Amino acid sequence: MSLSLQASLVSQVFCVALIASVGTRFWLASRQMRHVRQHRAAVPAAFASTISTEAHQHAADYTLAKTRFGMLAEALGAALLLGWTLLGGLDALNAWVHDLVVPRWGDLPYQLALFGAFSVIGGLLDLPLEWYRTFHIEQQFGFNRMSPRLFVLDLIKSTAVGLAIGTPLLASVLWVMGATGNWWWLWAWGLWTGFMLLMQVVYPLYIAPLFNKFKPLEDATLAGRVQALMQRCGFQAKGFFVMDGSLRSAHGNAYFAGLGKSKRVVFYDTLLARLLPAEVEAVLAHELGHFHHKHVLHRMLMIFALSLLGLALLGWLANQPGFYFGLGVTPNLPGTSSNHALALLLFMMTLPPFLFFIAPLIARSSRKAEFEADAYACAQSNGADLSSALLKLYEDNASTLTPDPLYVRFYYSHPPASERLAALPR
Ligand SMILES: [Zn+2]
Repeated sequence: MSLSLQASLVSQVFCVALIASVGTRFWLASRQMRHVRQHRAAVPAAFASTISTEAHQHAADYTLAKTRFGMLAEALGAALLLGWTLLGGLDALNAWVHDLVVPRWGDLPYQLALFGAFSVIGGLLDLPLEWYRTFHIEQQFGFNRMSPRLFVLDLIKSTAVGLAIGTPLLASVLWVMGATGNWWWLWAWGLWTGFMLLMQVVYPLYIAPLFNKFKPLEDATLAGRVQALMQRCGFQAKGFFVMDGSLRSAHGNAYFAGLGKSKRVVFYDTLLARLLPAEVEAVLAHELGHFHHKHVLHRMLMIFALSLLGLALLGWLANQPGFYFGLGVTPNLPGTSSNHALALLLFMMTLPPFLFFIAPLIARSSRKAEFEADAYACAQSNGADLSSALLKLYEDNASTLTPDPLYVRFYYSHPPASERLAALPR
């Protein structure tokens, strides 16, 4: 295939995926908004005795505001992606960084600098959106607890952590791409897999505590109850933590994280404050259900398999000149400097429109895992308590009770309240 033909094919496939994914997202978002608006007036019958009209309408308005904002962010993201690719943004950035860095410092620093420059620009462009989301939408609905000062501190901290972890990882991947020949993608996959496994241990133990405080339970009666349940479920006795989620947001949550020694169940203080002891036990039993069914492990295996496919694809694409030209970038001439960073950036940038179409499969397996964890909680604790705890969680987070069913299929990692509570005894 001639280069120009290959390049135009790449452009066309990319444009079709981008238009199809953005179009589908907009269509789904407008369905969701219509559905929520249509059901805003009255609380659904199944919740009439437990949720007030006021709370129901608060959830509807919050969902509408979030979805509307999501559409704006989506449109801006698509425009930006076109700007980086077909309109020549990445090409111009690459030419500039290349001329600046290669003569002075050589190849690997150039590749790292290209990634760095791209991340800084992307981060700065993202900042106003994140600011608006926090200080307008979350604020307006009474969820934000973050001060502008904390926002800036978080930004500085996460940038520093990202640099400290990302730079060595990226440098090793780029080195592997250059040093291991045609099978580099397999080596890179091994590196990536090792890194992900390491992060499962490092993140809960060393990184999350940079942003939040994690404490053992203080309430002695509750602690006794929690211990008893954890022992019954075969979970390490010291794995229960309370996190000061109230530092940033009024949203409540609980989650299961880590592998091996870092394995833990984390409750936000905001959720803990709202639940009765029996409800805490039921939610904990749900989280232990994820542990029992090895959901963290399954999800990681899925990510490993997907990244192997992705890297193998990139291993092939990176050698096709049409991949670069078709996405608006002139690759560096062979023998001058490497194209690995360019290939990696282009790939990471253009993958999401394609991945969007497997999102429903991933969401479905996640919802299935939630049902399994709920069933485990019913067996080990009490379904009625789980039911009332979940109801508080849905209400406190202003999750709509009436989402569009198709929107749920695409995006929801957790079943909507109606389906989830229907599966539980009351
Ligand atoms: Zn869960």
